[in-house]
Amino acid sequence: MEVRKILLTEDEMPRQWYNILADIKMNPPLGPDGNPIKPEDLAPVFPMNLIEQEMSSERWIDIPEEVLSVLKIWRPAPLVRALSFEKALDTPARIYFKNEGLSPPGSHKPNTAVPQAYYNKVFGIKKLTTETGAGQWGSALSFACSQFGLECKVFMVRISFDQKPYRKSLMATWGANCIASPSTLTKAGRDILESDPNTPGSLAIAISEAVEAAVTDESGETRYSLGSVLNHVMLHQTIIGLEAKKQMEKIGEYPDIVIGCAGGGSNFAGLAYPYVCDKINGREIEIYPVEPTACPTLTRAPFAYDHGDSAKYTPLLPMHSLGHSFVPAPIHAGGLRYHGMAPTVSQLVSEGLIEAKAVNQLAAYKAGVLMARTEGIVPAPETNHALACVVDEAKKAKEEGKEKVILFNFSGHGLIDLGAYDKYFSGKLKDYELGKEEESKFEACLEDHPKPELLKSC
Ligand SMILES: *Cc1c(COP(=O)(O)O)cnc(C)c1O
Repeated sequence: MEVRKILLTEDEMPRQWYNILADIKMNPPLGPDGNPIKPEDLAPVFPMNLIEQEMSSERWIDIPEEVLSVLKIWRPAPLVRALSFEKALDTPARIYFKNEGLSPPGSHKPNTAVPQAYYNKVFGIKKLTTETGAGQWGSALSFACSQFGLECKVFMVRISFDQKPYRKSLMATWGANCIASPSTLTKAGRDILESDPNTPGSLAIAISEAVEAAVTDESGETRYSLGSVLNHVMLHQTIIGLEAKKQMEKIGEYPDIVIGCAGGGSNFAGLAYPYVCDKINGREIEIYPVEPTACPTLTRAPFAYDHGDSAKYTPLLPMHSLGHSFVPAPIHAGGLRYHGMAPTVSQLVSEGLIEAKAVNQLAAYKAGVLMARTEGIVPAPETNHALACVVDEAKKAKEEGKEKVILFNFSGHGLIDLGAYDKYFSGKLKDYELGKEEESKFEACLEDHPKPELLKSC
């Protein structure tokens, strides 16, 4: 009988995260004076224990017992062989996925929300602020804060706040306070509202608000938390890939191709980085981050230094960026609409260790619906982008007559995104391709920033 899912016991869970900074060279983040930032510069924003992790180049970092204990609510996550999906595609490829949709909020995001809440708690912090687009990160942090008794305030992008009431309800259920962004609570929000009262908002604006709310809180007991992009977030997510490796080993498999959708890069990095480590050490493997054509950060935008937010509160990060004032088309994969990309993912692309792909929205939903009608589970709109790439690779394997092994990250379920599926079925979704004329705009937005160097890691 063919194996359908490969499980680990709680005892077999990884006890350490893998830190890719031990194995690649990075350009440093820069402060307002153009010099590399120092740990103290970040102290008003993040607790020092997380800043140390952000800057660490230790290859392995222990996962605290208290964190493991909460992760065990849903981890280890199963590795699933997508047998019915393979059959429908009539492909010789063997397709596996990590199911990260089984966490309480339904995505991979609590893999970092839980350790972030824990480290803040240990540092004596009482309250966290953050931003959220479609609401996945806001709900993940709300869940994590409820586990450690922290207060949580979430600035939610206005358009999602109005269109996606259920994630707001989830956040309220976990005891968090969710506010539409831009709001009148911050200077960053008020400035935007003054120039554009009807703005739909953006992640970059919401980040500015959340950072400002944290650093201006006079109690000194509030910090900010980010759900993707930063090094420590990528680190926490590597539990996905480390579990996957153990699981594949159990059945004597090793992937030829690793695929994950990429918004800020964290679920992709989580699955892929332990394999990037193998690749650096000589293993042959293809690794693809997949983004939407509507927000083509890795495939079209320059590798540059840019801010993570619209009000330029954050340091300049070395990353592929569409420009911090970029407002993407209203595609339904809210988690993939960020203007920037994790510096480590950007660096790996620039060095050719991983290869970025872009897919259109309709191809993504088509693949997602096939997944629902074969494997049964309904993927998040973001996850559908990874699936479209999986379908392409499975077809290629068929054309070439090769038994490829494909591993992808099922980053979350789509049960709170069914409105988007309704639109897809009624023909109201369309493909978006960023216009050529837009390119001059984001180049202009980055013009006065320094350029990161192309460093060769290996
Ligand atoms: C947030 C989210 C993403 C995109 O974020 P990354 O940091 O790129 O992983 C992808 N899938 C799901 C389900 C999400 O919630």
